[in-house]
Amino acid sequence: MTTVFGKILRGEIPCKKVYEDDTVLAFDDVAPMAPVHVLIIPKQAIAGLNDATTSHEALLGHIMATAKKVAALKGIDKSGYRVVMNSGADGGQSVFHMHLHVLGGRPLGWPPG
Ligand code: AMP
Repeated sequence: MTTVFGKILRGEIPCKKVYEDDTVLAFDDVAPMAPVHVLIIPKQAIAGLNDATTSHEALLGHIMATAKKVAALKGIDKSGYRVVMNSGADGGQSVFHMHLHVLGGRPLGWPPG
């Protein structure tokens, strides 16, 4: 776990925690792209969605279910929100510890850049 998210999981650098359970940690993005911008990461280090296998299906579902929970905790469940998982270079992934973005608090444009 050599990424910045590994350091957050080990408590070596701080985060603004939104939610935590046995398998995931959710915290505010340090450079928010919307009034609400939360990252959900698995405690297990998987580099990205492309590295996930069928053995991770329950975890992937749990991450998605956590997004719904985070949206409610942040008060954007009624107004709406977007979940994004960037994967690989063309997907715009910059931290290679799998994470789901939860964005909301303003109308979001489409298509993404
Ligand atoms: P991605 O480009 O999809 O890999 O997303 C990585 C995200 O991690 C970006 O939105 C960054 O702003 C965010 N990020 C990087 N370092 C930190 C940190 N120390 N705490 C919170 N978010 C971070």
